[in-house]
Amino acid sequence: MERLQKVIAQAGVASRRKAEELITEGKVKVNGQVVTELGTKVSMTDKIEVEGIPLVEEEKKYFLFYKPRGVISAVKDDKNRKVVTDFFKHVSQRVYPVGRLDYDTTGLLLLSNDGEFTQLLTHPSHEINKTYVAKVKGVPLREALKKLERGIVLEDGKTAPAKAKLQSADRSKNTAIVEITIHEGKNRQVRRMLEAIGHPVLKLKREKFAFLELRGLNAGEYRELTPHEVKRLK
Ligand code: URA
Repeated sequence: MERLQKVIAQAGVASRRKAEELITEGKVKVNGQVVTELGTKVSMTDKIEVEGIPLVEEEKKYFLFYKPRGVISAVKDDKNRKVVTDFFKHVSQRVYPVGRLDYDTTGLLLLSNDGEFTQLLTHPSHEINKTYVAKVKGVPLREALKKLERGIVLEDGKTAPAKAKLQSADRSKNTAIVEITIHEGKNRQVRRMLEAIGHPVLKLKREKFAFLELRGLNAGEYRELTPHEVKRLK
């Protein structure tokens, strides 16, 4: 059983708030009866009509997006900054990001309108590997990278063991490229882990999410996942 306003919003008819308005204004019927009570619970078998039109479930969509820098992983922003869904204006379903990347982080981000899929993939117990490539200040020694592999104590707890390797070093500029794979999703985790070993991040890109890669996409572009990819992720 789900709350009526949630079901209406998930069907893509209106935002949650607008759905609440429609209910209190008497524009919603459940099994032929007008319902004005917010929070009324409904199930799959209930027949819901909004302004006389039967609710049909929105088709589920799954997208792999190459997020550019300077974009918020949200559907709207108080300060009117660019958000990831601005790139999905031509998609009629109301998709939203599955997890998030920082404003300045680029790379692979999934978007979907499937709430169960999103919950499953962002739940810590699912332990999906995510691979990042970071340009860092300084050139980390093997011992510093070993620390990342053992786990780092951050203010919100110890990180699970990560995989980390040095991809290249530019000694003239005193920078390096580090590849790091984690399966947790603490806030700004990669940036904080690298900062903790003395190598602040200058640039960060997520290159892989589980078995998915960015191949074939440029920043700002997306593609739909295949049904097989969606199945593999679940
Ligand atoms: N870790 C970070 O620090 N930033 C991201 O955007 C993702 C992971």
